[in-house]
Amino acid sequence: MVLEPTASHTATKQRESRPGSMTVALPTIHLENMGKYIDETLWRRALCKPDWYLILADDFKRLEKLAEQQKNNPDHKVIKGEAYSLVEEALRIGTIPRAPSGENLDKQRKPIDTIVIHHTKNRPGMTLGRLNAMQLLRIYGMYYANPTDKLELQFKGQAVWSGHFYNGEQVFWGYHWLVRENGELEHILDDKYIGWHAGNWDINTRSVAICIDDDLSNREPNNVVIGSIAKLLRDQYLTVNPRNIVGHCDVNKKTECPGRLFHESWRQKLLNKIV
Ligand SMILES: [Zn+2]
Repeated sequence: MVLEPTASHTATKQRESRPGSMTVALPTIHLENMGKYIDETLWRRALCKPDWYLILADDFKRLEKLAEQQKNNPDHKVIKGEAYSLVEEALRIGTIPRAPSGENLDKQRKPIDTIVIHHTKNRPGMTLGRLNAMQLLRIYGMYYANPTDKLELQFKGQAVWSGHFYNGEQVFWGYHWLVRENGELEHILDDKYIGWHAGNWDINTRSVAICIDDDLSNREPNNVVIGSIAKLLRDQYLTVNPRNIVGHCDVNKKTECPGRLFHESWRQKLLNKIV
């Protein structure tokens, strides 16, 4: 996913005070295969600094490229998984600096007229901690490393700020809703926030992102999941024109999300259940 904000967010950005990175004990974690693809020490040290993403961006791009080359290998998720695990741990124990305040990145929020469907492209059971780590690294970190909006160039080097809070914690995921395998819905991002999910800033400003907790690359979601999304759309987003209920792949040509069967089969099943 590539973020392409087209308009400004403006205003001054507070400089983040440097946290006590020298005094913070580095986390010790034990995970199978850890360190096979990354220099763990480099990552751990970097993740204590406000500009961690500047140190790690190139290495993460290397991992993404490698994972892409290995995508037919069933173990390819381990490649980026090591990096995600370290970010997740750093978030959990609080060593990774996050800005305590910052600009209002949601002031371009528009009335919701679009629903974008995603999948996690992972086995069901995505934890919020993992999702937060993945999107902090892949979306926010990579954007702060290379802001494309000229009014946001000053973000570079500063601690990351999303301005999005869930249960009192600043969070970095871009999806508003997560749909579990059993149809359970989790509202993880308030609709007033612009979710950084589509790789298309205009769409982000006026959409709600619904993410299915599954890998639907080559199959459909089960009927319970489809029914549950249909009910959500009926109950809360009935004003959205069915034409604007789209897949991530419809608004960003670089992705197949939410899987190649979305248009072949299950988008229509979903629409049929809404009316
Ligand atoms: Zn997606």
